[in-house]
Amino acid sequence: MLEMNADVLLSVQDLQVWFTLRRFGFGIAGYVRAVDGVSFQLREGEAVAIVGESGSGKSTLMRAILGLYRPRAGSIVFEGRDVPRLKPADLRWYRTRIGYVQQDPYGALPPFMTIQQILEEPLIITRRENGQQRMERVRRALEEVKLTPVEDFLKKFPHQLSGGQQQRVVIARATILNPKLLIADEPVSMLDASVRLEILSLLRELQRNHRLSILYITHDLSTARHFSERIFVMYAGKIVEKAPADELILNPRHPYTWALLAAIPEPDPQNAQRFREVPPGEPPSLVAPPPGCRFHPRCPKAIPGLCEVREPPEFRIGPHHEVACWLYE
Ligand code: SF4
Repeated sequence: MLEMNADVLLSVQDLQVWFTLRRFGFGIAGYVRAVDGVSFQLREGEAVAIVGESGSGKSTLMRAILGLYRPRAGSIVFEGRDVPRLKPADLRWYRTRIGYVQQDPYGALPPFMTIQQILEEPLIITRRENGQQRMERVRRALEEVKLTPVEDFLKKFPHQLSGGQQQRVVIARATILNPKLLIADEPVSMLDASVRLEILSLLRELQRNHRLSILYITHDLSTARHFSERIFVMYAGKIVEKAPADELILNPRHPYTWALLAAIPEPDPQNAQRFREVPPGEPPSLVAPPPGCRFHPRCPKAIPGLCEVREPPEFRIGPHHEVACWLYE
């Protein structure tokens, strides 16, 4: 067991997850530095959004936390246990402590199983209850995700449900073992706009009722603000800004966060102009990321002779606000 603050559930320190590129017959051609020096802590009962474009490393970070990728360096400590070094029996314990909600609910549900079978499966695998207790748990789980009357859903197959209902089943399955942490990977991005808010509100309700911690992975800053207590912005394998949700939206400091905010449709034209100076573009290749600050080729504030040479550390600019940018040295 490793020492952690009492209310910290998950601690990630200097995490690196690299993938080896092999050239057939010629050994190693390079590395994809998908996550490259990420540190943060998640408290019990806290919702944190990790925001970034595709290619920012947020999904790789999530898979490393789920124990699906082995880090090259750094640590992931959950309830005092070092996740990458868990033995197979402990890994089974870990999987009951973490729930996972995927982006595509239909792809996540086995098509030939009924909703009842899908929800019973984790309980059967962990052999916690007898048949009657299992059914009670299944019913309660369906009620919690508001799929009622329960009888209308138990015998249905996933294809007989709408996208929003399928995602509710995925959430019920992810929470049926009473996990401590829920990882939600773009949970509403494939759903109709009309049900997105409902699903996010449902996740928030479950978080409050069960003191669940949530890592919400998204590219959408506006839902991140309404969903989470803190937001971490990722760019090219690194976290570049961390702050309480409102603070990050109202007082963003990293030029990349400005770029993300500029992409949000803004009804107030004055506000809309605020961040327009950041040029559009793509995150860099993670095989050969730019030296110094990885954002410097796109950054309108780049300091010549510094930003393209030296990587900025995280500067603390408020009690809970950190920015990896030389502007705040
Ligand atoms: Fe821009 Fe320099 Fe800050 Fe990077 S460190 S975001 S290049 S000002």
